[in-house]
Amino acid sequence: MMIAGLCAMGAMVGSFLNVCASRLPKGRSLWMPGSACPACGSPIRWYDNIPVLSFLVLQGRCRDCRGRIAWRYPIVEMGTALLFTLAYIQIGWHSDLPLALFLLSALIVITAIDLEHQLIPDRITLPGIVAGFAGSALLGRGSWFNSLLGILLGGGAFFLVIVLSGGGMGGGDMKLGAMLGAFLGWKLLLLGLFLAALLGGAVAVALLVAGRKGRKDPLPFGPFLAFGGAISLFWGEGILRWYLSGFAN
Ligand SMILES: [Zn+2]
Repeated sequence: MMIAGLCAMGAMVGSFLNVCASRLPKGRSLWMPGSACPACGSPIRWYDNIPVLSFLVLQGRCRDCRGRIAWRYPIVEMGTALLFTLAYIQIGWHSDLPLALFLLSALIVITAIDLEHQLIPDRITLPGIVAGFAGSALLGRGSWFNSLLGILLGGGAFFLVIVLSGGGMGGGDMKLGAMLGAFLGWKLLLLGLFLAALLGGAVAVALLVAGRKGRKDPLPFGPFLAFGGAISLFWGEGILRWYLSGFAN
């Protein structure tokens, strides 16, 4: 029952996250006006706005102009449903759950926007830092001090990279690092950064070898940070315990 509920809620939240991903980079309001087809401008009817199902029924095309609907829409809706369900399975009915759902939602929008526009909007990360800190202090298992250390480490690590590399990373990555730290606390943040660097490095090398990207082409780092942060959120405690137990032997 709960799992079906979380899955449905995830799909509906995912639908809203799609609106955020389309409108935030353009500085448009999230609430007004209602959704419309980007190709022909016809308003989307409520029965054509049902997560995933409408995309299947319409076969990925606008009902009015037959223009293609981006794959991002069903992918974000299904992805959010999946991650919300996973969060419930991993965390259970705990005061950490709303914090986790909030973090995952922010990470999904950031991933979608960074992949499409190579930017990470302050309108997500700055409120995210505040929400992660306040949430950890009031609700979460983590303490406010742990959250504060996470913010300083996450922001500080990227600040160093930016200074040392002369702009190899953007300020958006720095604020995302601080946001992850605010939610995860310093230990899980470090694990998340490590996983992000590992995966980002592997993908960069793979793209280079495959000739899909040159050495100078930018590769948005936000999606890797989001991935590392989500893994750390779900399995970080276990991974750290396993890792530290290796030293005891
Ligand atoms: Zn249309």
